[in-house]
Amino acid sequence: MSQQGYVATPPYSQAQPGMGGYPAGFGSSPAQPLYGHYGGQPQSFPAPPTGLMKPVSSPSGMPPPEVSSQYGSNIQQNGASPTSPPAQQPFQTAPPPTMGQTTLGPPPTGPHSPQMAPPQSPLAGPSMGGHPSMGGHPSMGGHPSMGGHPSMGGHPPMGGMGRPVPGPPPPGSGGFQQPGPGAAGQPGYPQQPQGTESAFGGQMAGPGMAGPGMAGPFQGGAAHMSGPPQKKLDPDSIPSTTQVTEDDQAKRGGQVYTTNLRGQVPPLVTTDFTVQDQGNASPRFMRCTTYSFPCTADLAKQCQVPLGAIIKPFATVPKNETPLYFVNHGETGPIRCNRCKAYMCPYMQFIDGGRRYQCGFCNCVNEVPAFYFQHLDHMGRRVDLYERPELSLGSYEFEATLDYCKNNKPASPPAYIFMIDVSYANIKSGLVRLICEELKTLLDNLPREDGAESSTVKVGFVTYNKILHFYNVKSALAQPQMMVVSDTAEMFVPLLDGFLVNFQESRAVINNLLDQIPDMFADTNESETVFAPVIQAGVEALKTAECSGKLFIFHSSIPTAEAPGKLKNRDDKKLINTEKEKTLFQPQKGVYEQLSKDCVSQGCSVDLFLFPSQYVDLATMGDVPTHTGGSIFKYSNFQVEMDGEHFLSDLRKDVEKAIGFDAIMRVRTSTGFRATNFFGAIHMNNTTDVEMAAVDCDKAVTVEFKHDDKLSEETGALMQCALLYTTVNGQRRLRIHNLSLNCSAQLSELYKSCETDALINFFAKSAYRAMLNQPLKTVREILVNQTAHMLACYRKNCSSPSAASQLILPDAMKVFPVYLNSLMKTGPLVGSADLSTDDRAHQRLIATAMGVEDTQLLLYPRLIPLHNMDVASDVVPAPVRCSEERLTDAGMFLLENGRSLFLWLGQACPPELVQRVFNVPSFAHLPADLSSLPVLDNPQSKKLRSIIDSLLDQRPSAMKLLIVKQKDRSEMLFRQHLVEDKGPYGGASYMDFLCYVHCEIRQVLT
Ligand SMILES: [Zn+2]
Repeated sequence: MSQQGYVATPPYSQAQPGMGGYPAGFGSSPAQPLYGHYGGQPQSFPAPPTGLMKPVSSPSGMPPPEVSSQYGSNIQQNGASPTSPPAQQPFQTAPPPTMGQTTLGPPPTGPHSPQMAPPQSPLAGPSMGGHPSMGGHPSMGGHPSMGGHPSMGGHPPMGGMGRPVPGPPPPGSGGFQQPGPGAAGQPGYPQQPQGTESAFGGQMAGPGMAGPGMAGPFQGGAAHMSGPPQKKLDPDSIPSTTQVTEDDQAKRGGQVYTTNLRGQVPPLVTTDFTVQDQGNASPRFMRCTTYSFPCTADLAKQCQVPLGAIIKPFATVPKNETPLYFVNHGETGPIRCNRCKAYMCPYMQFIDGGRRYQCGFCNCVNEVPAFYFQHLDHMGRRVDLYERPELSLGSYEFEATLDYCKNNKPASPPAYIFMIDVSYANIKSGLVRLICEELKTLLDNLPREDGAESSTVKVGFVTYNKILHFYNVKSALAQPQMMVVSDTAEMFVPLLDGFLVNFQESRAVINNLLDQIPDMFADTNESETVFAPVIQAGVEALKTAECSGKLFIFHSSIPTAEAPGKLKNRDDKKLINTEKEKTLFQPQKGVYEQLSKDCVSQGCSVDLFLFPSQYVDLATMGDVPTHTGGSIFKYSNFQVEMDGEHFLSDLRKDVEKAIGFDAIMRVRTSTGFRATNFFGAIHMNNTTDVEMAAVDCDKAVTVEFKHDDKLSEETGALMQCALLYTTVNGQRRLRIHNLSLNCSAQLSELYKSCETDALINFFAKSAYRAMLNQPLKTVREILVNQTAHMLACYRKNCSSPSAASQLILPDAMKVFPVYLNSLMKTGPLVGSADLSTDDRAHQRLIATAMGVEDTQLLLYPRLIPLHNMDVASDVVPAPVRCSEERLTDAGMFLLENGRSLFLWLGQACPPELVQRVFNVPSFAHLPADLSSLPVLDNPQSKKLRSIIDSLLDQRPSAMKLLIVKQKDRSEMLFRQHLVEDKGPYGGASYMDFLCYVHCEIRQVLT
């Protein structure tokens, strides 16, 4: 397994100043054996609904920026609403004078008007006034290291990051406590005038809330933190993710988002909207950290905002949106630029009466093949523009010719191989029987082409412990036949014919086998297992069958049997918070590295279902799945009764999901910048080709871009992602996604066009990669550092002068700090001995392939109050901020982050509600180990279960419901997801963190 993209990464410290600032080291593009230029006759394809199309051509071949996205009245920033009435604003105070020039201003003379200042959210620096070190603040008292650790130079580490912070005992239920009277007397804490406390909730300016007086209550903002004695701080005074989400939903929810504009910032991932492709890829397929790139490398370096795209090539398209059009040029294959090999797309400019076209990516002028010739209209557009998806749409597919196939041979349909660990633990737990029972019905739902009657995906079966058993399930057999391979050192597949079969044809034999397996091993004593040979066997079987496919491995224990890839327990909690902590997450090299390579070259993806009762070295066992587009599922201490349904839901989703195989992805860009860094469940043999044994609808690749020249405001920045893959039907196809961004010499444009959710996805993936090479402390410092630089640069260059005590945040980034703080409190980065090493490794690996929706939800969970829901309505109650502040003793709350699902009950939860939901008389009667809701015939029970069902339906993986009673032991698990509070395993509260970031910004600025 080559770790090109990983090992080649220099030590993280060298990445300074940019978080993602790894030196590129990328030479010129290598030869592209899989991509060629072909000419010939076109074939028909379904024409797009022309009525939906708008002209997209312009002198540069770009969709014309008729209305600047930043200023268009119907297009908004990712932030709070500029048009919402003040009463709905989380931050009611008027903005500084520059705010008057924001989204409500008159139309600018051009799309890149340099005078325009982006909206921003000034925040009076609570507690920060005159407080370079935070030591004296009572609320910080428990954070010794918040106060400018001497060894840290200008960058004190996060208070308590990396270890539990013994904070001040929380008063009452542990809310954020306003400093007492003593605080006011401390240096740097000007006394808060009585009576302004109510204005504190208005300390933040809402974006676009033009008006004077911003400076008024904000001056001496420190005072606002030290209000009346024992008065709780109003948490509404700091930017709220739930508010931003709600505002975007209110403004853009339910609307049609058309992609005809360059550099347009899409609605948030949390907003319900419909996409109409008019020349740029849907945000479901591609999202960017900013939609306006800086023109020069110097500007990019100055602001330190990473330039990235998160690409989910197989994202699910909702039923009310048009599926991708399929273009078939017959034997000629797709039309491509001779020089850069970019595929025909809306960014190609036809000239010379239609006989030639200029490539939007490299500017090369190409001849139009005779078969493809078409006249131009008076605007210079081809008259067949709207009949050809590749000329008018952002996303479409091409039929790939034989030149795009391995060895110039047509691809075959993929195969799914189910490989079941039948060692003692799995037999005894009942897992093997559960899997076998499920497969009998599940295999009817193998993925198929739209409209196809049945799936062409073949299936095969292997069981194993220390040795492997292959099964012949040929339809002609009366009974399945077992073949044993006991020499695991040199794995081979003992049968060619009858191993991989069509389920429909072999159903009787397969069901017979699935009935027999649990009984065949019922008396096993074997507890040792092999693992690498199992993967090897799967790859060999696919090689023999000359097809791609996926292995579903159901495994329970660390593979200790004498065989290649044998592992030993190397868990060592003593390494936590030392230089060597990173080794816990580094996979064991050698066998698994080579296996990943073998898998990728065969198009063999590995999905691992783990059922461990102790440490299994997940960092190593998960290595092959995370380089082959696979997934890792983990069910610790699995019990069929408690966890069976959770596992089966995951398995069903996983088997049925849309997927492509044997994929290779290339991201091309217009001149001046290029893709330099890739994150995902991918493999890279060179610096440009992203190889994925498989890519499913939930997997995303995050790409970082760097300048290699100047970018032009006129032509913008264009990118084209081309994914060559094999369909579940065995067809070779090319999926193309195009996206055009703006470029500007004004940093304010960049900040205005940022997307916080995409940014945090990038930060999460780069930090999780960096922790393989750097101590966690360093990684966290770099995260904070880069954040401070991004925000300081905004303040210095884009906002109007204001008191240093004010924290000024760009509107589109105003909730970035809460996400970043949450990221640093995640298991992988928190460095706590209370967390299992395998769990941390697992979290790290699964985040690598996450899209923007998944990281957003993971880092800011939904906390939904249920105690006063309207049972007559279908609406899910609006989530509240993830803080203990929001919980009430008489409340009931649902919390979910895409991985975990909790139902929390307050001690004073009304007995009637408890009765209606749980069928017990009161809170006290609830059993401690409850893990599911009874099905009851009353509105509360029905509504709650329907909310849970719909959440589970939307998420890529299943979640097990955990019912948590206030003050119970299990509450700790729940509390770590209250991301605005101090982390139970370490890490600051949101408020403290914001103060800390403010402090860092001031240091940067001085
Ligand atoms: Zn070109």
